[in-house]
Amino acid sequence: MALEEQNYWLRTAEFPKPKAARLPQGVDVAVIGAGFTGLSAARTLAKRGANVAVLESETIGWGASSRNGGMVLTGLKLGVNKLIARYGRELTERMYRASLATIDCVERIVREEAIDCDFSRCGHLEVACKQKHFDDYARQAELIAREFNHQLRVVERNELKAEIGSTIYYGGMVDEVSAGLNPARYVAGLGEAALRAGAGIFEHTRVQSLERESRQGESGWKMVTPRGPLWAREVFVGTSGYTGRATPALQGKIIPVGSFIITTEVLREELANELSPRNRMIYDSKHYLYYYRLTPDRRMLFGGRAAFFPESDQTIRRSAEILRRGMLDVYPQLRDTKVEYVWGGTLDFAFDIMPHAGQIDGIYYAVGYAGHGVAMATYQGQKIAELISGDTPENPFVGIPFPGLPLGLYHGKPWFLPFAGIWYKLLDWVS
Ligand SMILES: Cc1cc2nc3c(=O)[nH]c(=O)nc-3n(C[C@H](O)[C@H](O)[C@H](O)COP(=O)(O)OP(=O)(O)OC[C@H]3O[C@@H](n4cnc5c(N)ncnc54)[C@H](O)[C@@H]3O)c2cc1C
Repeated sequence: MALEEQNYWLRTAEFPKPKAARLPQGVDVAVIGAGFTGLSAARTLAKRGANVAVLESETIGWGASSRNGGMVLTGLKLGVNKLIARYGRELTERMYRASLATIDCVERIVREEAIDCDFSRCGHLEVACKQKHFDDYARQAELIAREFNHQLRVVERNELKAEIGSTIYYGGMVDEVSAGLNPARYVAGLGEAALRAGAGIFEHTRVQSLERESRQGESGWKMVTPRGPLWAREVFVGTSGYTGRATPALQGKIIPVGSFIITTEVLREELANELSPRNRMIYDSKHYLYYYRLTPDRRMLFGGRAAFFPESDQTIRRSAEILRRGMLDVYPQLRDTKVEYVWGGTLDFAFDIMPHAGQIDGIYYAVGYAGHGVAMATYQGQKIAELISGDTPENPFVGIPFPGLPLGLYHGKPWFLPFAGIWYKLLDWVS
């Protein structure tokens, strides 16, 4: 089969087709974006009796939620040392605990809603590209065990064969709590669950603008869409790397960054077992990292930030070749294996590389997952929905400083990405 520029996961999933009903006049909560964040929020809100409309400019799961590696990972993008230096020990502990709770949150939803998405607690493996990265694993594992009572297993170089069929790494670190799933099936299942709970989902309904408007003495928001206006008491934005002009305050704090994936043809069982004997979710220790795993039907899925700009025909095609070369560096055994699919998607980075949630200019939001969003987006959707319903759930990412660039240097067009790309390549070289 020739290389297809298409998301492999979409070939394995069936998406609900919500009826193209007219927009209601008004709702309790409008949710913008039908990915993990928005659909998880809509499900929770609808189950609590709220009248909810999800507005999605494309279709259910169209954004990063159907395009990702399906790695359901513990921890945050930043290591615990950096977190403790920035936020102190107590807040870092709450953040780390929350990161573990995100995995349980996904597992609970998959079970409660009977979502057929190959969820499995297969664990993740981080592999060290340099000796000093490996030396740091032992320090991190010791710190996390001591401070947060969570066990990670450090794997010496000479024992790594039991974890990965590659000889290029200096060792690894395993967290058995992480999981894997099929993201397209998961987001389709979340959509079905939100519909079943009573939420309305409106596809092809881009929110073009949003402004405050009171109705019969009640404060709220008026949204303009190509299908007419909608009024809502509260608005929750879960637009991640696709955040646009309708929410300029949020757009100015989010950097959209491209990430790309290839998948091979189906591998022979012995070869698949050799490459990943324990079927882990794997990523390496670089800034400009590779992440990879076997799919449930035994393809090698291999991803990375091959081009820094968000996906376009050009960046996707270029990425296929870059990623294939990267894959062969890790696994020369795949030299004669065909690459069948390549696709890209957009990640959302905050300037401090942290998840952020709460309210901005009166609008609820959850963004900033930095490539760690399968579990965290699901969790934040649920937590912010609970907040909107009047609860005060534990959520250590609400209220932390949310930086932007000073003096209006940034309005959502990341002119600095080529420099950031060079900077991270340089960092990988020297650190
Ligand atoms: C290639 C790739 C690989 C990844 N791999 C992993 C991984 O293995 N593990 C992991 O944890 N994370 C991974 N991530 C990150 C993860 O996929 C995301 O963090 C997560 O899906 C974000 O979900 P979301 O619902 O917030 O946003 P999205 O799924 O991006 O959804 C946002 C939606 O908002 C809609 N939208 C935007 N503006 C408007 C508007 N004005 N009106 C209406 N709708 C609008 C968009 O159409 C889009 O569908 C990866 C991401 C990419 C791109």
